[in-house]
Amino acid sequence: MAALGVVDRALDGTPLYAARGELPIDVDEQRVQCHLCGGWYRALGSSHLSRTHGVTADEYRELVGLRPRHPLWAPDLIDEQGERLRARLAAEPRLRVAMAKGHARAQRGELQREATSRLAQRLTSLERERQLAVGARGSATAARQHSAGAASYVRWRSASPA
Ligand SMILES: [Zn+2]
Repeated sequence: MAALGVVDRALDGTPLYAARGELPIDVDEQRVQCHLCGGWYRALGSSHLSRTHGVTADEYRELVGLRPRHPLWAPDLIDEQGERLRARLAAEPRLRVAMAKGHARAQRGELQREATSRLAQRLTSLERERQLAVGARGSATAARQHSAGAASYVRWRSASPA
């Protein structure tokens, strides 16, 4: 492992223990070096970066000149993650089928068609809602007319001689 020493500086003057723009990797130990303290870690996770240096992974990458989304893990961990995903896909045929299906359908434009027909359905149900609302208003009017009729009937009754 390389001896600790400030070898570079961030744009804001922060001393760096590794050159800006690259993440040192120790392939034998499978560790990556933290620019901010020079320590070697399996991964520069948020636990180290935020707890020790008070920065997020994105802030760290920006500070030390790494491109966005540059992996901050030892290469074998990255491989492992890829392997875990592959293993999961192999172990869960349904997931694999669903992913393949989604991909194939997207290619055939089926998803687009489905979205279009869902929109049509929504418009239809909106129309139905409006009709129902009109229907409800219609029966409310009928009810008012009915009670008006009843009222005039009552008036006529009370107006008639006892
Ligand atoms: Zn550090």
